[in-house]
Amino acid sequence: SAKERGNNTLQAYLSTLTAGTYKEFSLANDFRKALQNEEFVLYYQPRLDTITRKIVAAEALIRWEHDDWGLVSPVEFIHIAEETGLIVPLGNWILKTVCRQIHTWSKSGMADIRVSVNISAKQFLVDDFVDSVWSILREFDVKPERIEFEITETTIIPNDSAIVESIRRLRQMGIAIYFDDFGTGYSSLSWLQRFELDGIKLDKSFVTHVPVRWAPTQIVSSVIRLAHSLNLTVVAEGVEANGQFAFLKDEKCEQVQGFLFSRPLPVEKFEELLDVGVLHPIPCSHQSRAQL
Ligand code: C2E
Ligand code: MG
Ligand code: MG
Ligand code: MG
Repeated sequence: SAKERGNNTLQAYLSTLTAGTYKEFSLANDFRKALQNEEFVLYYQPRLDTITRKIVAAEALIRWEHDDWGLVSPVEFIHIAEETGLIVPLGNWILKTVCRQIHTWSKSGMADIRVSVNISAKQFLVDDFVDSVWSILREFDVKPERIEFEITETTIIPNDSAIVESIRRLRQMGIAIYFDDFGTGYSSLSWLQRFELDGIKLDKSFVTHVPVRWAPTQIVSSVIRLAHSLNLTVVAEGVEANGQFAFLKDEKCEQVQGFLFSRPLPVEKFEELLDVGVLHPIPCSHQSRAQL
């Protein structure tokens, strides 16, 4: 009956709700211990030069290997780290892991790619952030030119002079700074005015619609031209289709990153791609959807 169906729907809804909040609760509860036990792992997603299709960089993307929940997405726990202040030790762990990896690659003669690291605003607000970055680079004998930082606008206030100063010092040191998820925030353009940056990462919410939908296509073309006029490099995120790639190439977007070429991979798998060096498009339908 309709009433039964209604009840079933309600039951289904309640159980997803409970499952959702239970998982959130469990993750928040386990986070501190996970940090002590180093239950995290970095995946690497290649960033390609649009013209040569060579891997020029990789974005380090964190996952949590949780005993009960399996591989957990950063979307589900970075906010916990930020809210508890544990993003600072976690951020140090991430940067150390990246630097150790770069050091290992250098010693084994792997290609000299750069690695980009996502940095939360909370990390920038710590007084000795820039100094701690410097000492980690020295500890692992990594040149600053091998590291890039990606900053998302949503959590950073563009007129915060402490952040402007930190970014200036990091760039002076030789670390490139990219503005992540460009176009999704409130003040993307004031960022370009306020900060000296090296590049922008065009958000996938625009990239997804090129060259099919008119408005996003115009926006992407214009943003690329705007960025170039300010001497910024443009990286397109979330490239999933050949048509998107062809369009971005025509528009002189320098680099692309997305499932069309590779998902984020565990380090051994990523090294196999590095060995190959040049990547070919793989339509997403041929890839497993289950992977994070
Ligand atoms: P983000 O920095 O914008 O990273 C790009 C996200 O897009 C990644 O999700 C990546 O897996 C996904 N992606 C890449 N190519 C494609 C594509 O073609 N299609 C689709 N649909 N998605 C694609 P992920 O790894 O789940 O990370 C989500 C967010 O979590 C990141 O967004 C970043 O804001 C945050 N995050 C990840 N790792 C770290 C970290 O080490 N530190 C900090 N502070 N935040 C991190
Ligand atoms: Mg990023
Ligand atoms: Mg981001
Ligand atoms: Mg992004």
